[in-house]
Amino acid sequence: MRLPRSEALIARAQLSIPGGVNSPVRAFRAVGGAPPFIVRGKGPRIFDADGRHYLDYVCSWGPLLLGHRPPEVVRALEEALAWGTSFGAPTEREVELAEAICECMPSVEMVRLVNSGTEATMSALRLARGFTGRDLVVKFDGCYHGHVDSLLVRAGSGMATLGIADCAGVPTAFADTTIAVPFNSAAAVEQAFQDYDDRIAAVIVEPVAGNMGCVPPAGGFLEALREITRRHGALLIFDEVMTGFRLALGGAQQLYGIRPDLTTLGKVIGGGLPVGAYGGRADIMSKVAPLGPVYQAGTLSGNPLAVSAGLAMLRYLKAHPEVYRQLDQSTAQLAAAAPEGVTVNRSGSMITFFFCAGPVTDYAEALTCDTRRFAAFFHWLLERGIYWPASQFEAAFVSAAHSEEDVARTAAVIREFFAA
Ligand SMILES: *Cc1c(COP(=O)(O)O)cnc(C)c1O
Repeated sequence: MRLPRSEALIARAQLSIPGGVNSPVRAFRAVGGAPPFIVRGKGPRIFDADGRHYLDYVCSWGPLLLGHRPPEVVRALEEALAWGTSFGAPTEREVELAEAICECMPSVEMVRLVNSGTEATMSALRLARGFTGRDLVVKFDGCYHGHVDSLLVRAGSGMATLGIADCAGVPTAFADTTIAVPFNSAAAVEQAFQDYDDRIAAVIVEPVAGNMGCVPPAGGFLEALREITRRHGALLIFDEVMTGFRLALGGAQQLYGIRPDLTTLGKVIGGGLPVGAYGGRADIMSKVAPLGPVYQAGTLSGNPLAVSAGLAMLRYLKAHPEVYRQLDQSTAQLAAAAPEGVTVNRSGSMITFFFCAGPVTDYAEALTCDTRRFAAFFHWLLERGIYWPASQFEAAFVSAAHSEEDVARTAAVIREFFAA
């Protein structure tokens, strides 16, 4: 497929931006070809510089649960813009967003707003260490928690896509504070506590993993993490940057009935603008400055535009709980397009077709996939006007803007690929 304008743009971009992109997976390195440069989006569709349009299953990598430019969010942004873009002083909107988050997620008694998911996880780790007085953190192979130094260990997502095992520039001393164990293995976590017991500050987990492709938790896994961390005086951190407000209004923790000590949020809570958040137990959050000794700050944190977009998104979701049923049905319809023998993992509106025999329950199994066959699948879809994540190790996202007809057409194209 030729995209002359996009090809010219990526060539030009590469002269002034590393790889021509501001986040690695956008460069299409794992699937080949030039990435379409996007001009605009509307509902479930994006439009590129070459005049083509696509049904979008990337949805900005998660935030756009309602598709592109939902009227409620656009209206909120226009209203906020009329009042000013940033004050570096408290505003009522921030309180409203904090209250909305706390109401949707009962485990979040207090919350601090930041600008990205990375900032949220970085701050949550610092807080967990400051609260417990311990240094080590347990994470899971294939879980991605943003580009925080100590968490770029077997981190799935973009690093898996590019085949980068260990990130250069992360001091060994930082990586050594991280204990990485297989996802879905409570026994490995138990062993880590045998080995390091009172040095472990926290276990951080994507409760439904989405950054090695979609990998749901095995039955009892999250319950075991809750029990083990409690028994050893460590904190349980749910990284719900992807799953928060996507799988349910109360995130994966609502779905699985687990109450973590801290939760990190991002993506959907910004309504398409940069918002992250970390929150949890009030006694822990009370250690954050200015109340306590754990310092964390941000010039643009609680930005009026971003907060207004997020608030509009959350209010819409609260008023329309039926959205989640629709998302579930649409995504189930896509999953059903795969023939016998193809591994499909799905949780709500997160979905991955794994090109391996399966099942895929952890990172090691995800890595057995035939990434060349995935690339063929990706281009098959792209050429037929369907924009799928450009990596085997990224979940695809369905939005509420995808109509029954959109989903049926997508399912038909997927079926044709497997039949060809
Ligand atoms: C996307 C993601 C992050 C990082 O968020 P950014 O806004 O990209 O910094 C962290 N954790 C999870 C689970 C994510 O999916």
